[in-house]
Amino acid sequence: MKISSYAAGAWYQSPAEGTLVRDAVYGEPVALVSSEGLNFKAMVEYARKVGGPNLRRYTFHERAAMLRALAQYLQARKEQFYALSYKTGATQYDSWFDIDGGIGTFFSYSSLARRELPNARFLAEDDALTLSKQGTFLGRHILVPKEGVAVHINAFNFPVWGMLEKLAPGLIAGVPAIVKPATQTAYLTEAVFRAMLESDILPEGAIQLVCGGIGDLFDHLNEQDNVTFTGSAATGRRLKVHPSLVARSVPFNMEADSLNCAILGQSVEPGEPEFELFVKEVAREMTVKAGQKCTAIRRVIVPKDKSEAVLEALQQALAKVVLGDPSRQEVGMGPLVGAQQRQDVLAVVEQLKAQGCEVAYEGSHTLLGGDWEKGGFMAPTLLYSPRPWESAAHDLEPFGPVATLMPYENLDEAIALARRGQGSLVGSIVTYNRQEARTLFFGCATHHGRMLILNRENARESTGHGSPLPLLLHGGPGRAGAGEELGGVRGIKHYLQRCAVQADPTTLMVLSEEYVRGAQVKEDLIHPFRKYFEDLEVGESLLTHRRTVTEADIVNFANVTGDYFYAHIDELGARDSIFGKRVAHGYFLISAAAGLFVSPAPGPVLANYGLENLRFIEPVGIGDTIQARLTVKSKTAKDPRPGERPTGVVTWAVEITNQEGKTVALYDILTLVERREKAAQA
Ligand code: NDP
Repeated sequence: MKISSYAAGAWYQSPAEGTLVRDAVYGEPVALVSSEGLNFKAMVEYARKVGGPNLRRYTFHERAAMLRALAQYLQARKEQFYALSYKTGATQYDSWFDIDGGIGTFFSYSSLARRELPNARFLAEDDALTLSKQGTFLGRHILVPKEGVAVHINAFNFPVWGMLEKLAPGLIAGVPAIVKPATQTAYLTEAVFRAMLESDILPEGAIQLVCGGIGDLFDHLNEQDNVTFTGSAATGRRLKVHPSLVARSVPFNMEADSLNCAILGQSVEPGEPEFELFVKEVAREMTVKAGQKCTAIRRVIVPKDKSEAVLEALQQALAKVVLGDPSRQEVGMGPLVGAQQRQDVLAVVEQLKAQGCEVAYEGSHTLLGGDWEKGGFMAPTLLYSPRPWESAAHDLEPFGPVATLMPYENLDEAIALARRGQGSLVGSIVTYNRQEARTLFFGCATHHGRMLILNRENARESTGHGSPLPLLLHGGPGRAGAGEELGGVRGIKHYLQRCAVQADPTTLMVLSEEYVRGAQVKEDLIHPFRKYFEDLEVGESLLTHRRTVTEADIVNFANVTGDYFYAHIDELGARDSIFGKRVAHGYFLISAAAGLFVSPAPGPVLANYGLENLRFIEPVGIGDTIQARLTVKSKTAKDPRPGERPTGVVTWAVEITNQEGKTVALYDILTLVERREKAAQA
């Protein structure tokens, strides 16, 4: 029954008896948790000396492939995690958020990394900036993995998702982690962690686990490390100012409690789809995970003249909720994580009542399995705040199936009430009136990390108020902790150090492995289109022959495309235009440039699949002579799918110049180029 920690490459079971954790449904003992005796200093050193170097040996894409393999491994074993998850009080639907949601985050980050990051060990961000008149002094941000450890401290409510959503961006970045789950549900986290280790997919030292307290862990952290915390604001505030973290400026990302709101638009009438959607969303958010969600709706802000109707509809919806043993299919809401948690929530409800909230619904549910006394069961509770300005519901978080309804007179008041939450993770606006949505969104945006605007058009596909998504920011200002998690590549960047590098173009090209305008190029007698992916070098370049643009070119191009825009074919109109004369179509120029640089015979270049960053800089008139330069800007090898031809993406920088050497157009083209070695094996 004792669960273990995993430290410095070995499982560790504390000799101390530990904290007894009981199952949420029947109150039976499930685990003893203690980290006493763990050598935290050794864990940090192990992460730095073993885990970090092992992870950094791989590229973003290689680490993304590990994440995908891990996700597949966990997915194949999720039934065993579900069985444990019931003990935490989670229904199958709740576990779906926690377990499948966590695994989904791994899948999502794996695809994202392969799509949006280079197949490299560092990330060159944005474009190079020209910092001087002659273009010999440039700047760019280059991001490298931090050489430390990420300490992840998680809340009890999402023992699986909480761990996986933090690990995903950190591991992609190449930073090892020490995971510390909340004691109450650590047994489920430990089971999933154990499976990850057994898979043998991650390199040695990539992950470690602390079940129990963190001892003197913070004392060993330094400027290369970071801490990401999810939990109550009270704990977060205490940990954030830990002297070791302050002294070494260790970044501390905090995701804390949040008094999220849902606002029903003033224009919505009972009976309309948005009215039903609103009621459904509020009832769902109150009961999923028995309301133990950082994103749950706590404040239900409704137009005063509709508050009766909303109350009635919510009462009906909540009365239908079946409470009981979450492993039973019929059960819609399981218990809170334990009897103590119920006591804590009930105490907050009492405080809310004492400060003016009225009870609008307090179910007298019977249980379908489970134990009222020993388990953490609590009926959904809806409160009503007749004087919303004075409501304690803006300040107190009942972390359970509790929400408070508050009426508003007009949209300004709805906005002001929403902002009284002092910063939230998420808010929902339910209306079909776009102007109303706009007013509410811009009124509330400063106080929210995410806002869902729900109506009949997106309801079917909406992921709902309560679901943070890997590609969107999770975090909120103020009370929500002012942290940021997920958000696609943004989440990965928390684990990378951004260094602004200033250098000449050629040095910058060598550092960033990306051609920068102005850098020295290499020319070869062999046309670059005749070369396999591996043989092309960044900075390799072709300067084409020239071509004089004639009137016939312009007329022919207009006839082929049907584009008779006056600046190209109307002598008088063109004379009055900003160019003062007829000019070639921009699309003619890029087509003509392709004609200048392609090598037409079949070869390793398989396809042109895109064009980026196109700018027409100077007009080209009749009689002007153009020339193109094609330079390998960057290369990314693609992981071939089974049966697929091994290829790589080559981005080419194209510059078209005129007879005066002036740049007339700039753009990048993307081509798919065959790989030599693998092609020979295929
Ligand atoms: P707690 O703040 O009690 O605990 C959070 C984590 O901090 C746990 O792992 C806990 O470990 C750990 N912890 C507590 N004290 C210390 C300490 N002195 N040193 C190091 N670690 C410590 O929160 P809960 O687990 O009770 O979670 C509920 C709260 O979390 C709610 O208020 C909820 O709003 C918030 N939350 C926020 C989320 C978000 O994304 N913003 C998501 C989920 C929850 P241990 O259990 O061993 O004490």
